[in-house]
Amino acid sequence: SPQIVWLRRDLRLADQPAFHAAAAQGPVVPVFVLDDGRAGDHAYGGASRWWLHHSLESLGKSLGARRSQIVLRQGDAPQVLAALADEVGAGTIHANRHYEPWWKEAEDELRDALGEDCELVLHDGNYLMPPGSVTTGSGDPYKIYSPFARSMLEVLPPRDALDAPETLHSPDSWPESDELADWDLLPTDPDWAAGIRDFWTVGEDAAHERLDWWADEVAEYDEGRNLPSQDTTSRLSPHLHWGEISPVQVYHRMKHLRSDGWQTFLKEIIWRDYAQNVICQFPDYARESYRDYDERTLWRNPNAGKLIRQDLECWQKGMTGYPIVDAGMRQLWQTGWMHNRVRMIAASFLVKHLLIDWRYGEKWYWDCLVDADYGNNGVNWQWISGTGVDSNMFSRIMAPLTQSDKFDAADYIREYIAELADLSDDEIHDPADDRRGDYPVKMIGHKEARERALGAYHAAK
Ligand code: FAD
Repeated sequence: SPQIVWLRRDLRLADQPAFHAAAAQGPVVPVFVLDDGRAGDHAYGGASRWWLHHSLESLGKSLGARRSQIVLRQGDAPQVLAALADEVGAGTIHANRHYEPWWKEAEDELRDALGEDCELVLHDGNYLMPPGSVTTGSGDPYKIYSPFARSMLEVLPPRDALDAPETLHSPDSWPESDELADWDLLPTDPDWAAGIRDFWTVGEDAAHERLDWWADEVAEYDEGRNLPSQDTTSRLSPHLHWGEISPVQVYHRMKHLRSDGWQTFLKEIIWRDYAQNVICQFPDYARESYRDYDERTLWRNPNAGKLIRQDLECWQKGMTGYPIVDAGMRQLWQTGWMHNRVRMIAASFLVKHLLIDWRYGEKWYWDCLVDADYGNNGVNWQWISGTGVDSNMFSRIMAPLTQSDKFDAADYIREYIAELADLSDDEIHDPADDRRGDYPVKMIGHKEARERALGAYHAAK
């Protein structure tokens, strides 16, 4: 009988266990359901919708070349899938596991909605090791990254990568599909995606091209990963997030490399596995703090007053007067991505210098990032704000100007802040007020902000 492959963040053909299993058993009906209501406050952000459109288009073309296609449907995923299973007489729905709480719920609801003739079979495909499988000696999941990473390094290598199925048999007739263009995933008026289009090529082939390039560059990663002016990180994050490439493929492509850069890079890929391990244990991790602060006194609430709201808006628009923070926020807006070092500096600025609740920042990144990921975003925001189960201390406050100088961000600032493009390397990290032209002065001094943050922290503890 026909086999449905339920696609979510696994938009690839190679090393795609759900596809692989389905193709071995019968005609394959790949389906993507746009279920806008399910994720609530974590419905796809604008940049994610842009990426999703292009990724579905790209996968559709690859399937077309194999005389297959994707069926696009909209609505409540379990209901839509159960109805589709009836319609095509499917014996099995194959899917790769996803750990966002709304997807786990959807899987349970789907099992309930399916009749006796069809079953849901879940596969592990998007992580180095299945989340939850790397445990302490007593079998408990890890809460803290470092011991998790040590254990992970002991159990690696991961499973072998699977080749793309050579043939995909089609059903006798194809069920109806929505038109991708009718989903309105792309912006129209205004078209804010020009910078994102320039920066990225979406899809499985592009992901592998980037990986091939990266295998030659990774030796520089140890030092280069902190330098936002240089292209010395992989930029695989949206490809990994959307599952256009799997970390298992990345591992096997690079495992023979002997450089320290590869070892450091592997630990970052392990952070990605760790974040899923965290949301399995704490499903609300991108929504709730886990430290015992009185958050009502800790944060300045943007809904409580116009001035605080304006502070948040200055940060969002890249108008704080701190060039490194603003370059990052403008890179985010223009390209849908921000360099990791600058993500940290900008996030720390919001929660410590402006004392604004990390959830406002999480939400902004969620809307603007093409790699917006429930696990990675929540884990990293909580790390920076000192509110998570594994966190930096709140009292560790990053100094943005020192960071900018130390990590040589002058060219990066020039690229994203046109107002400062003529300033020298010496001046650009912290220009004198009369050298800023139209660029704003600092909204708050570093020392003053630091004292205010520490005061609020001690009061809230
Ligand atoms: P590389 O340095 O080349 O790393 C390779 C891969 O490892 C990345 O593609 C990513 O999949 C993974 N990785 C790297 N660093 C981390 C990390 N700290 N945590 C988890 N995985 C990591 N990453 C996201 O994918 N989605 C997010 O929504 C996200 N939000 C973030 C929010 C904040 C406040 C911070 C500080 C970091 C966030 N990150 C997020 C992590 C990191 O910044 C990005 O993964 C990285 O910048 C992507 O660029 P790259 O692919 O060149 O990374």
